[in-house]
Amino acid sequence: MKKQPSKSSKAAADVQETKAILNSMEAHLTYSISKYSALATTHDWYEIAARTARDRMAERWMETMQTYYRDDPKRVYYLSLEFLVGRTFSNAALNLELHGEFKQALHELGQNIEAVSEMEFDAGLGNGGLGRLAACFLDSMATLELPCYGYGIRYEYGMFHQKIEDGQQVEHPDNWLRYGNPWEFPRPEVLYPVKFHGRVVQFTSEDGTLRHHWVDTEEIMAMAYDTPVPGFGGKTVNNMRLWAAKSSRDFDLRYFNQGDYIQAVADKNASENLSKVLYPNDSTEMGKELRLKQQYFFVSASLQDILYRYKKHHATWDELPNKVAIQLNDTHPAISIAELMRLLVDIHGLGWDHAWNLTTRTFSYTNHTLMPEALETWKVSLFEAILPRHLEIIYAINFQFLRQVMHTFPGDNELLRRMSLIDENGDRRIRMAHLAIVGSHTVNGVAQLHTELMKSTIFSDFNRLWPGKILNMTNGITPRRWLNQANPALAELISANIGTGWIRNLDELQKLRALAKDAAFRKAFGAVKRANKERLAAMIEETLHIRVNPDSLFDIQIKRIHEYKRQLLNVLHVITLYNRIRQGTHPNTAPRTVIIGGKAAPGYVMAKRIIRLINNVAEIVNNDPLIGDRLKLLFIPNYNVSNAERIVPAADLSEQISTAGTEASGTGNMKLSLNGALTIGTLDGANIEIMEEVGEENFFLFGLTADEVARLRASGYNPWDYYHGNTELRQVLDMIASGYFSPDEPDRFQSIVDALLCHGDHYLLLADYASYVACQERVDALYCRPEEWLQKSILNVAGMGKFSSDRTIRQYAEQIWHVGPVPVC
Ligand SMILES: *Cc1c(COP(=O)(O)O)cnc(C)c1O
Repeated sequence: MKKQPSKSSKAAADVQETKAILNSMEAHLTYSISKYSALATTHDWYEIAARTARDRMAERWMETMQTYYRDDPKRVYYLSLEFLVGRTFSNAALNLELHGEFKQALHELGQNIEAVSEMEFDAGLGNGGLGRLAACFLDSMATLELPCYGYGIRYEYGMFHQKIEDGQQVEHPDNWLRYGNPWEFPRPEVLYPVKFHGRVVQFTSEDGTLRHHWVDTEEIMAMAYDTPVPGFGGKTVNNMRLWAAKSSRDFDLRYFNQGDYIQAVADKNASENLSKVLYPNDSTEMGKELRLKQQYFFVSASLQDILYRYKKHHATWDELPNKVAIQLNDTHPAISIAELMRLLVDIHGLGWDHAWNLTTRTFSYTNHTLMPEALETWKVSLFEAILPRHLEIIYAINFQFLRQVMHTFPGDNELLRRMSLIDENGDRRIRMAHLAIVGSHTVNGVAQLHTELMKSTIFSDFNRLWPGKILNMTNGITPRRWLNQANPALAELISANIGTGWIRNLDELQKLRALAKDAAFRKAFGAVKRANKERLAAMIEETLHIRVNPDSLFDIQIKRIHEYKRQLLNVLHVITLYNRIRQGTHPNTAPRTVIIGGKAAPGYVMAKRIIRLINNVAEIVNNDPLIGDRLKLLFIPNYNVSNAERIVPAADLSEQISTAGTEASGTGNMKLSLNGALTIGTLDGANIEIMEEVGEENFFLFGLTADEVARLRASGYNPWDYYHGNTELRQVLDMIASGYFSPDEPDRFQSIVDALLCHGDHYLLLADYASYVACQERVDALYCRPEEWLQKSILNVAGMGKFSSDRTIRQYAEQIWHVGPVPVC
């Protein structure tokens, strides 16, 4: 192995930089914390280190903003109701290429950088994949020096903290701002009013055109909080601007005139509830009034801010689409389309057609799911009460749109009904996905299969009307957080062998292919995995008081708990192994540690029941003397970004077992593969593309294809056939139903078995069971040949270049946004 000196793989920290960091930290100890060092807590040291890192971003941040102001390039605005950022300190230190220096400086102060980093609360302003994607994109946009801004909500409470009590999920509030947030800069002067409710009055202006006023509204103020987003190398530092709701009532004299001071303060609290809490639903919408208000709140503030910035350089609106690209992360911000029309037509006096032309050339929309329960719709009646003018605008858009459909496909009333922005079945509802498609110039899916299914199923009518409008942008993850930061030992090993170019250009990992045949490299690679497994085992022992064997196969499924993701299929396999071991029919292969982690939406009863089943099965399996060390099942509570950073580097096997056609892309699959896990997976989402890149021989494929799933469902799927046709499967289901795992309440899990046998097994677990179990046997066999396993593991890492979010963002920049890099000098 050749050693190559480079910034991030060198052992020694730069002496000058370390000294400067030490000086800054000592200054912050005195002037920011004001404590003697003997009294400073570990949290104080975190605060000091964070402020010191923040200082080092501030200048580049200001220079970046100044450059954008001066050059006035076309800017990209990424609108997302979620940003699942996680911790910032380590990431900032690494992206500034000062991690070694911080480590050394903290060491000289008697502190350990890992312990200090652990003090930081996760910024958990997202549910799962969609929010994490937004965070990875911000990192890539800054690294690629693109003039981009993230816009979202500064929730006071992010994703709930999950605890397991008596085997069940219990939600606790995530009070992440309790000790303040050193990364954000409040901007009390950046304040916009956002209106709700009221009514619309029509009048005819002097030039005879019909105009609309939205009057008698209630107002809430949106206040900006800015967070710097450093690209790798720290040259470009972009901005993430999150809005917090503030009462505008401070200035409302009515209350004081009425002498009702207490009511005035009470109302102030009520309006500030708007940005209080993140809705903890992943891939399901609940149609709650507060959620709609959150959406409009952040959209309205963001658009006012975007137009204000545009106006500083431009006298007319004609250049808007040449200067502004707005990406809608799912339909959550789709009301933007009606809001921009309102601003241009009602406030700035543009004609309808002119405004519509500008609007549709500005927006693009990313779809994240095909599942009907996840497609957002809002009751017309709710819209009418909260956003009456927007409802009128949506009707007007719909009128013109349906006229266009009618001209293109005359006489097809059924088509009009299907494509309308309004669902007229039952209570009338607004289809937000249809609004987003009609109001955007480009729509994208997030993996090849997903995009093809969008075009051939749910959006086939739109694809026929506007061929070419739907594009594919396969998701990616940032290698800075998911390899350089999460797995420093593997990052070091890779850099020592192929240099550090991979951090910016992940395709360079291909150079590892040759090294997969190098026994010395395999040994070093194996040692890194082994150390990461020991670290996870230590964490598990500390938190769960369960000892796991680091030599066992770490079989990992971490993601939101959802029926379509099929954690239950994983459990059926665990019970199968349990039975085989007890019956003496399991070959004496390597021991297995099955680890499952993920949160269930608080109102998703079946998902919570599955968590309970996992914990109850674990209780039996882990304490059975006949099983001993051969099989362990663990549920790791509170899966979040920081826990992912611990778990992912320790995985041997990545479970990506969703029913084919249901997972739009997945990004957890990419994180695990990038860290050397082999995937056991279905042909779903980005799994397909991962398999193409790493090679079929390095991927454990099982199960029905999306086509086969569709055909089986259409031809009348009968789960009982599988139950009667497979003795092992029947035994497993009978055990669950009979209370084997819940002796204190035997029918606790009856409903789970009923969902499979009596309610149609919608996600086809029974149809895929045999194929899955057989595939797991191949996994076991390979794990007993460690050199082969290691080779395949290395080839997985080597094949992951495509899944850098840098590649994804370059595609968006070229094919959708039409923007290029703006280097900051
Ligand atoms: C990556 C990530 C996800 C998405 O995982 P999938 O397996 O793609 O569903 C969800 N939550 C967290 C915390 C993540 O880091």
